Amino acid sequence: MNKLTKTFPVVGMHCASCASLIKKRLEKLDGVESCVVNYATENAKVSYDASKTSVSQMNKEIDKLGYSLQETHSMHEGPLKRHVQIMIPMIIISVFSMFWKISLFHYLMPILATYALFVVGAPYLKGIIRFIKYHVANMDTLVGIGTLTAYLYSLLSNSKENYYDVVIVIIGFITIGKFLEARSKLKTGEAIKKLLGLQAKNALVLRDGKEIEVPIDEIEVNDIVIVKPGQKIPLDGIIIEGKSSIDESMITGESIPVDKKENDIVIGSTINKQGSLQIKVTKIGEDTMLSQIIKMVEVAQGSKAPIEALADKISAIFVPAVLIIAIITLLIWVLVGMPTLGILSFVGVLVIACPCAMGLATPTAIIVGVGKAAQNGILIKNAESLEKFNKVNFVVMDKTGTITKGTPEVTDIKVLGSRSEKEILKLLASLEKHSEHPLALAVVEKAKEKKISLHKIDNFMNLEGKGLKGTINKVEYYAGNLKLVADLKFKVDEKIIRALAKEGKTPVIFMTKKEIIAYIGIADTIKDDAVEAVNALHQLGIKVAMLTGDNKHTAQYIANLVGIDRVIAEVLPADKANEIKKLQKEGYKVAMVGDGINDAPALVTADVGIAMGTGTDVAIESAGITLLGGSLSKLPKAVKLSRSTMRTIKQNLFWAFGYNIILIPVAAGVLYPFFGILLNPAIAGAAMGLSSVSVVLNSLYLVYK
Ligand code: ADP
Ligand code: MG
Repeated sequence: MNKLTKTFPVVGMHCASCASLIKKRLEKLDGVESCVVNYATENAKVSYDASKTSVSQMNKEIDKLGYSLQETHSMHEGPLKRHVQIMIPMIIISVFSMFWKISLFHYLMPILATYALFVVGAPYLKGIIRFIKYHVANMDTLVGIGTLTAYLYSLLSNSKENYYDVVIVIIGFITIGKFLEARSKLKTGEAIKKLLGLQAKNALVLRDGKEIEVPIDEIEVNDIVIVKPGQKIPLDGIIIEGKSSIDESMITGESIPVDKKENDIVIGSTINKQGSLQIKVTKIGEDTMLSQIIKMVEVAQGSKAPIEALADKISAIFVPAVLIIAIITLLIWVLVGMPTLGILSFVGVLVIACPCAMGLATPTAIIVGVGKAAQNGILIKNAESLEKFNKVNFVVMDKTGTITKGTPEVTDIKVLGSRSEKEILKLLASLEKHSEHPLALAVVEKAKEKKISLHKIDNFMNLEGKGLKGTINKVEYYAGNLKLVADLKFKVDEKIIRALAKEGKTPVIFMTKKEIIAYIGIADTIKDDAVEAVNALHQLGIKVAMLTGDNKHTAQYIANLVGIDRVIAEVLPADKANEIKKLQKEGYKVAMVGDGINDAPALVTADVGIAMGTGTDVAIESAGITLLGGSLSKLPKAVKLSRSTMRTIKQNLFWAFGYNIILIPVAAGVLYPFFGILLNPAIAGAAMGLSSVSVVLNSLYLVYK
């Protein structure tokens, strides 16, 4: 076994159906596990066993269909450009020939048409051969049959009634369309290129007390690098000396620089604005945040949106259906004694119906949408999440760390009994030191501030969703919320609890097995952009709920400040997913926003899971969307982006598909008996070329939305 997954550029694809054909053929090969072909990026990602098959074997399989996998990247824009340069003057001559019936054209046109069809139009003729040999028809087959028919008819009838001009104009416009499409397809991938361009090439590394400049791939984990003001931080790491403000906008999309000091985490390719920093490198190569972001964006851009599966199904029956319609059209016109009209309609139908732009409609929009999101610090895992997010009408948010900053502070300590405040803090901090809950960090921080040394503890235990317990000097202590108090069957002083909760403070009750020994109030501040984000979501027609394990009065207080519609409080972590299910049963499409740690089940249950990505952990598995930098205002931005992407896809599908269907009857000559209107095949060719271009341009336009 020698399993490999590689991405190859594919040469020879002309249409969407090529992609599914290549996939089918390759997956039939022994040793090929799976294959994903993306027409928009012209890439094939193949997972295969290199001990059983090879790239040349794969190429042998698809070569007869006119495709090949490239081991190195090369965009085949070059030959297209040459063809375009030849076809433009030929189109102009053809247009002249339509109005100016001189004998020069009579001899010139057949020659030009022969060149157009057999040299420039070779891929379409190959499409006919493929159709005859392998019974696979695609968009090329339609164009090939159409133009070859027009050509042969002109040649055989040898009359003044010839369609050489039609052959030239159709092939000319389709070639121009493909050329423009290839160029703009290069542009849709720009986001990745921009991300790659962010990487620093060299770094100053500290070796044997000396600063030396080395290429970035020579740096290893635990190396100390020096970053001067104005320089890029080369790799992910931790500041070991110095402080500065750091521009992280390229990663998080946040324009305000972040202040950082010793022990803070820094991200590679962000920019150090002021101070000189010494940084211990923690991640290199593929593991860095930027590499992970790039990988994630690439995967998402190549993934299929559910709407695309539908488009694929339609196009699979579309091609044969069009062939049948064209033949029936021809037969009817011949039967009523108008064979010339029959040929024109036959060619017109084949050409206008060809939904070449089909395969571009969805992927180009996804590529641009996902890329633009990434530039705004919104990481989208796959196209499916993007599509589903567009329909979300209820957003559920975790409280701590999502709506609030997640860095709470101890504000009140009310002691019952004889212990001093300091003693209480010492005991509680000794316990909380073993917990990672934000509340625990607040207590430990307070003890540190007061320079209190801590006890050793035994039998520490986390009490999920309730608090914790541990033993100090043979006495068992408990700290946590009202659920924990109820478990121990104590009665709390309601007045104290209410007073704390009314100010949005979380009450932590500190107890022994026998009694309550203190009430501690811990306050967390609301994020600066929380109110604005909730408002923006409301304006987009989305309801907002808060889901938390915290006290319901505390939660309600914060919800009121932020303007949240619904509060779901005092929920155990395991029940968070159930609360999401309840909302879904009410008929809502739910997105859950959380910190991704104890919220994982809820994130997975929701229609779309959204993680607040802070620090350097990008790949939050359970989330479909990750908002980098922890800012909530990205949420409405992401909604708008997913909506505009889906709108673009639908418009694209119309341009690629809808208007062809409308024009098929016109091309077939339905209007001819009544109004004398027939769609000229030359115009049909032009329209088709333009439809591909308009689809790609429409997707690129997403960048400006
Ligand atoms: P949330 O993330 O919404 O706060 P959790 O399930 O993590 O939900 O915690 C639920 C509640 O349990 C907290 O609001 C707090 O009251 C209590 N709790 C959890 N861990 C601790 C802890 N280490 N110290 C004190 N109370 C805790
Ligand atoms: Mg939590």
